[in-house]
Amino acid sequence: MDLQTKALHAGYVKDSQGTMAVPIYQTTAYEFRDVEHAANLFSLKELGNIYTRLNNPTTDVFEKRFAELEGGEAAIATASGMSAIFFAIVNAAEAGDNIICAKQLYGGSLTLNTHTLKRFGIEARFFDVHKPQEIEKLIDDKTKVIFFESLTNPSIDVADIEAITAVANKYNILTVVDNTVATPVLCRPFEFGADITVHSASKYTTGQGLAIGGIMVERKNLLEKLKNNDRYAQFNEADASYHGLVYSEVGLPPYTLRTRLSLLRDLGAVVSPFNSWLFIQGTETLSLRMKEHSKNALMLAEFLESHPKVKKVNYPGLKSNPNFKNAQKYFQDGLCSGLLSFEVGSLQEAEKIVNATKLYSLVVNIGDSKSIITHPASTTHQQLSHEELVACGVPEGLIRISCGLESAKDLIEDIQQALEA
Ligand code: PLP
Repeated sequence: MDLQTKALHAGYVKDSQGTMAVPIYQTTAYEFRDVEHAANLFSLKELGNIYTRLNNPTTDVFEKRFAELEGGEAAIATASGMSAIFFAIVNAAEAGDNIICAKQLYGGSLTLNTHTLKRFGIEARFFDVHKPQEIEKLIDDKTKVIFFESLTNPSIDVADIEAITAVANKYNILTVVDNTVATPVLCRPFEFGADITVHSASKYTTGQGLAIGGIMVERKNLLEKLKNNDRYAQFNEADASYHGLVYSEVGLPPYTLRTRLSLLRDLGAVVSPFNSWLFIQGTETLSLRMKEHSKNALMLAEFLESHPKVKKVNYPGLKSNPNFKNAQKYFQDGLCSGLLSFEVGSLQEAEKIVNATKLYSLVVNIGDSKSIITHPASTTHQQLSHEELVACGVPEGLIRISCGLESAKDLIEDIQQALEA
């Protein structure tokens, strides 16, 4: 079945009411038939609903549908993209371990990896996404995850996914790919050797800037990589917090299972059923929207490239862009999503342009159907020093645009008047 079809049907079996739209199961808990039924659910002898912090029928449809789109085996939805990333990392890494991350990451992921994970005893080591050859020398026995974005926000680089996963697989290390900006419509990291993907559903998945949420997807047959792998004892030894369960022996996708039974249970960053329902609505039109976002962004990037005030345009769909080759290889039909950035001479000039636009909203978000303009140095990346900004590819004169679904002509006219104001 094509992705466009799966986006409308996967994961939903109509109940006796025959509702076309997936119902919102707005409930905290579920009644057990009797004590034996309850005990069976808790011991996983039977699968079913227990409590919405662990599972919910509306969320279940979203998880199943998204796993199908990504070409994975199972998914787990979370309260935000950040919680999906946190879960994906700490499911593998514990105090004393390290993770290897691309330098070019979303600002929240950078602060998580650099500062917050350090408080949990996890060290982050960094490589340049353009130099996967840097990874190997960072690996040791305590390396648990290699983390990068398929299409980076806000530096707009395209990772060489196969080159990175090849190193990871040589050492039997898990790769976690943030596929938020590309979405499964444009990029399918599992086809290039990745193990786990994470998404902020708050972006293109909801599509209209309606809700915060996240999702983590596990590839098919990940069990083979985890079983008897000394790096990941937690999947092969009894979990004392879950009556001695050994995750690699349950017969269910182990990475999402352990996330659900321990992390979601104890940390509680669960998505609300209503938000899952919104994500299902967004998913239904995702493939149509991603094509339009990509088309608009390419036209705007071409215009910006020709403007004398613009020093540099970052959009992998441009032939002049150093990421063009990777984009052609990894992205469906070479389409590159709606995110682009461009650089002007100074911080002051960037601020003036952002303030002069009328159609673009000054918002720290991406993936909305309405176009968004952001100045990362003064917002999402404010906590980073000048050196950190340069290192992660976000100079102070950089303006980021999330191209919406307005007409390309109107978007170009507005940016032109702002540049020339
Ligand atoms: N990953 C990427 C690439 C993002 O752009 C963002 C947010 O902007 C996140 C993760 C975090 O997602 P959320 O805001 O849903 O926590």
